[in-house]
Amino acid sequence: MLDSIWSLFQQSSMNADDTASAGSGGLQGQVDTLILANQAMWEILAGRLDVSEGELVKKMNEIDLRDGKLDGKITKQAVNAINCPDCGHKIAKKRANCYWCGTKLQGESLFVK
Ligand SMILES: [Zn+2]
Repeated sequence: MLDSIWSLFQQSSMNADDTASAGSGGLQGQVDTLILANQAMWEILAGRLDVSEGELVKKMNEIDLRDGKLDGKITKQAVNAINCPDCGHKIAKKRANCYWCGTKLQGESLFVK
């Protein structure tokens, strides 16, 4: 996983060097920033918590499947519909509490609006 993120980052950096229009404000620059932010978050989390790459991949797949398709993409539906961390029912994330069991929820995503 880390290797693939790093490879993607390096590849996108090389592509940016080859493409005059790919500045820090363009789409390529945004992708580079997201990859860099993901790598930094992963290194912080992996260093502070006992989290394996397998758990990260499992969570990525769980989020990917929330819209019913394992396609490597995230949608608003996937972000806005979560499985309750307590009872496991699928619920709208914008809810303050789980409809089924009342567990307090985290709120809206920082990444997908
Ligand atoms: Zn619940």
